[in-house]
Amino acid sequence: MDRLGEVPPGPLREFQRVGADLYRQGLVTSHGGNLSLRDGHGMWITRTGARLGHIQDTDITYVQPSGAHSGAPPSSDTILHTTVYALSGAQAVAHAHPRHATAITFETDTFEPPDFEGQHHLKSVPVIENDATGTERLAHALQANLVVVLRGHGAYARGQDLWDALHWIMALEESAHIAWLKRTWDAAAPKE
Ligand SMILES: [Zn+2]
Repeated sequence: MDRLGEVPPGPLREFQRVGADLYRQGLVTSHGGNLSLRDGHGMWITRTGARLGHIQDTDITYVQPSGAHSGAPPSSDTILHTTVYALSGAQAVAHAHPRHATAITFETDTFEPPDFEGQHHLKSVPVIENDATGTERLAHALQANLVVVLRGHGAYARGQDLWDALHWIMALEESAHIAWLKRTWDAAAPKE
């Protein structure tokens, strides 16, 4: 069923709580990132310019498969979210700007988490070039991976709900931070 009215209270709470967690954890800036939830043939998605740390009902727009929307103009990433839902069974997609995970993309095409949690959940994380075909390649990469990173930009995660997508973004950032600390430690430690 396609929805044309306001976002229902349950999904709104999920957007608000996950958005607030992303903001409080420093995984997005005041106006960065976006979130979506599949509903029927379309999806609820944050509007362009929404502040994820302070989401109101007017910040969530329903977008139909045709691209038609009701409410505020949807996120500029709408086509990416639509493509992910078309290609996979994902029920939610989250985009954030985790700092260490983004910094690492400048020097690798695949991020291999060094820690147990990252290896267990994420295995290896593809880095996608941020160019004209990046959106399509990113959506395809999210079929086989829980989270992928767009070079020099940020992470995209899929899940059965927004909490799931938040989990993979936080796991990625924790792994990237540990990788960063390990490299710093290795460089600073006196050689035997
Ligand atoms: Zn972004």
